[in-house]
Amino acid sequence: MADIAVIGGGAAGAAAFGELLARFDGGTIHWIVGQHAPGRGVAYATSDDQHLLNVRASAMGVFQEHAEDFIQHASRHLGQVKGTDFLPRRVFGDFIQAQVGVRIDAARRAGRSFRIHPGSAREIVSRGERGYAIRVGADRWLEVEHVVLAVGALSQRPLRTVSTTALAGGAYELDPWRLDRHPQAPRRVVVIGTGLTAVDTLLSAAVKWPYAELVAVSRHGLLPFTHSALPLAPYAKQEELNQALLACDDAAAMFRLVRRAMDDAGDTDWRSIIDGMRPTNARLWQHLTHARRKQFLRHARWVWEAARHRMAPATGEAIYQLQEEGRLQVLAARVLDVDGKAPLQVTLRERATQLVSVLEADLVVQATGLDTAVAYGAHDLLSQLLRDGLAVADPLQLGVLAQPDGQLTDANGKPQHGLHAVGSLLRGNLWECTAMPEIRAAAHRLAVRLSRPAAETVRESLAD
Ligand SMILES: Cc1cc2nc3c(=O)[nH]c(=O)nc-3n(C[C@H](O)[C@H](O)[C@H](O)COP(=O)(O)OP(=O)(O)OC[C@H]3O[C@@H](n4cnc5c(N)ncnc54)[C@H](O)[C@@H]3O)c2cc1C
Repeated sequence: MADIAVIGGGAAGAAAFGELLARFDGGTIHWIVGQHAPGRGVAYATSDDQHLLNVRASAMGVFQEHAEDFIQHASRHLGQVKGTDFLPRRVFGDFIQAQVGVRIDAARRAGRSFRIHPGSAREIVSRGERGYAIRVGADRWLEVEHVVLAVGALSQRPLRTVSTTALAGGAYELDPWRLDRHPQAPRRVVVIGTGLTAVDTLLSAAVKWPYAELVAVSRHGLLPFTHSALPLAPYAKQEELNQALLACDDAAAMFRLVRRAMDDAGDTDWRSIIDGMRPTNARLWQHLTHARRKQFLRHARWVWEAARHRMAPATGEAIYQLQEEGRLQVLAARVLDVDGKAPLQVTLRERATQLVSVLEADLVVQATGLDTAVAYGAHDLLSQLLRDGLAVADPLQLGVLAQPDGQLTDANGKPQHGLHAVGSLLRGNLWECTAMPEIRAAAHRLAVRLSRPAAETVRESLAD
């Protein structure tokens, strides 16, 4: 039997497991879910209802074909909601779990074979033609033909500028979702980062510590832009623009085209143009050489992230209100050093003036976004895969090298038969692959491919 294992209990793992449950009958489907409640992962485990989805309810889903859509589910729990609403992420976490539950019941009725394993996958060993052996927990081994890695991003590593004294003192928090570890109200909280995770951290801190002064700092000091309250009209010449972008192999030229489109777009909102690029983003990234990607990451990533991954309107309003009230200051500065115990001393160099100053903070929270630098991270399983040549780190530290379909590439540059990934590990390959619409589509394609009879797969690859 050709068993399959999905590793990772977040939204990507749930999507892959559920898609396989609906169609794979070649053997047992194993889901190794890690330490936390399956289906929620980092994004949907929050219980703070200020943490909103940054995608409208109508575009959120976990499977391509679903028994019930997210709007119906949310309406049953929150009262009538609209497809245009930005709902609490917690509710989407509930929805994922409910949808996986529906697939599990259906799979049971259909007599499909599956198992859910609490605990982590610790090691993967190649068995050549016969697939892989996976060690789960201390000493349980599973033998499978295919492995789907859905392990998400890595736990944050401390910035190099943070001293060991600061790390040991307990006032430097590496996990922005764990403010509950700090019962004592701080006078000043410094959040390093100004992206979506930083925004959520600031909102939670503002409620938890109503008298604390909040400072957010990043090199450009740019908060994410906000979504419009209602969906925007599409840009009339989007298809033309996307084709022109696909003909470019240089990020600077792509940006010039986008800017020109914004200038010529008349009444069309610039956000429509960015959103309309979504179907082509992965192909645009694949057109760039290593040097061009590097250039993009260095010079344009900060503004792309803020424009592409925007805040829900209510989130934006709450943040701007904190700024207006003088409770939140957003700085464009480089963090040169974090040292001391409590309070910590945060040394900054301001971007505009290059002036160096020191801020005292009772709590510093690192919220610098997705870390996919697998070569440097402390993820046991990924480190072992790299060591054994089963995976190769992306040269720009954006996950692992892979084929366009998510199949990992081995140390000799060959597709690694039976080893696949979905989600953040594929950023080097696809760049935009971490939001639910992209994850859901990738999980569906992968499950369809893995569920096809072998003869069909061989016939198709011979036709290529
Ligand atoms: C704060 C935040 C908000 C977001 N908001 C939205 C949004 O509104 N809309 C949207 O479309 N997208 C959003 N995203 C993006 C996207 O939906 C999420 O990133 C998505 O949930 C990613 O899921 P994942 O399963 O890839 O990763 P994760 O959520 O990180 O889950 C990975 C899981 O794998 C487990 N794991 C790791 N190693 C192992 C192992 N060896 N064995 C077993 N398990 C392991 C981990 O413990 C974890 O539970 C958001 C992302 C974040 C971080």
